[in-house]
Amino acid sequence: MIFHMPACSGCGNCSMACSFHNEGEFVPAKAAIRSVERDDGQGYLISFSQESDEERLACNGCKECVKLCVPGEDLENIIMEYMEKRNNTGQPG
Ligand code: SF4
Ligand code: SF4
Repeated sequence: MIFHMPACSGCGNCSMACSFHNEGEFVPAKAAIRSVERDDGQGYLISFSQESDEERLACNGCKECVKLCVPGEDLENIIMEYMEKRNNTGQPG
């Protein structure tokens, strides 16, 4: 699921925090969250994985990533929106 986050700098802290909290290691590629560069416009796109597989975790809404995000309030709001949409669509993960 993808969201636009105008205040995101693309620092990658969220991916580090997510992988460390959920996997015990700093492997951002495994994280449930990714910041993705936009072709135009301000900020980044935030991508959440909804299903875990061998490569990537699924976002469980723990909000550990928020703790290392400077515009953390914005990220927290996005996570809440993600969780609500995920629950409404009945998607796993
Ligand atoms: S809220 Fe989701 S993306 Fe953030 S640390 Fe938890 S599992 Fe990872
Ligand atoms: S969401 Fe926050 S922690 Fe993640 S890349 Fe953007 S500014 Fe950095």
